[in-house]
Amino acid sequence: MNGYIDLHLHSTFSDGALTPAQLVHHALDAHLRAIAITDHDTVDGNTEALAEGQARGLEVIPGVELSIAYSRGELHILGYYVDHLDPALHEELRRLREYRRRRNPQIIRKLAELGIELNLEAIRAKINNGNVGRPHIAAAMVESGYVRSVKEAFNRYLRKDGPAYVPKEMLSAPEGIQLVRRFGGVPVLAHPLTLEIQDSAELADFLSQLKADGLGGIEAYYLSDSRCPVELYRDIAQRLDLCLTGGSDFHGPVKPEVAIGTGRGKTRLPYHLVDELKARRTSAPALTTDTGGSSARLNL
Ligand SMILES: [Zn+2]
Ligand SMILES: [Zn+2]
Repeated sequence: MNGYIDLHLHSTFSDGALTPAQLVHHALDAHLRAIAITDHDTVDGNTEALAEGQARGLEVIPGVELSIAYSRGELHILGYYVDHLDPALHEELRRLREYRRRRNPQIIRKLAELGIELNLEAIRAKINNGNVGRPHIAAAMVESGYVRSVKEAFNRYLRKDGPAYVPKEMLSAPEGIQLVRRFGGVPVLAHPLTLEIQDSAELADFLSQLKADGLGGIEAYYLSDSRCPVELYRDIAQRLDLCLTGGSDFHGPVKPEVAIGTGRGKTRLPYHLVDELKARRTSAPALTTDTGGSSARLNL
């Protein structure tokens, strides 16, 4: 079937500027046929988007974007077709958001006890997406003259087991993937460039581990960044039997350089990617139904 899609949109339910209904209207204005709302660690915007999509004739795929602990910072797992009405999923996500909210104030408090006074709101106001991390806190420490460099801030205070360290309590990649599977969704690795793995063999290796954990696809067409080695992703996906998805990571007028449906470039994503994604819903790996292996892993 014809038509174009955008499977990575943020609404006011996370850090986007448009409501789910406004996103639907915007997508129709851009002549899209299908979209997915993928807010950070929440599925709350899906109900409104699905209803508006149904009323206006736009296919809306329920989605979410999970934050996952990663050795080089954080990675994101997109979950498509998750059962966004399941209260158990709401509870899991609420818990994750709570962890995230608690961590930064705890770090700021520990620093205050050490005589370092920082204002979390002031740090947050300076960054685009509102997700304050330790590097932002370190930069604020440099700015306020407590340390000479970000490196010093980490070495003296913020490093793992340092005096101002607070453990992350984030999902691991296998946990995130299994969470999506448990609620009937297809887990897809978002914007693989953020892994910062330059070596193609190393990337393939990493992805094959995620595949063993239950990964269903790769967001090969990340329209917000033109540096994506799409050919390489396609090649790895074929070898590992993963589907390819794509989207703009549209946040609305807060990031005017990113357009719905095309991101920062001119590429449009064909509808057949949705068909391939749909096919993955039924071909979930055995471990999603196996209560032994996967749940044992989740309890770790
Ligand atoms: Zn992301
Ligand atoms: Zn995103």
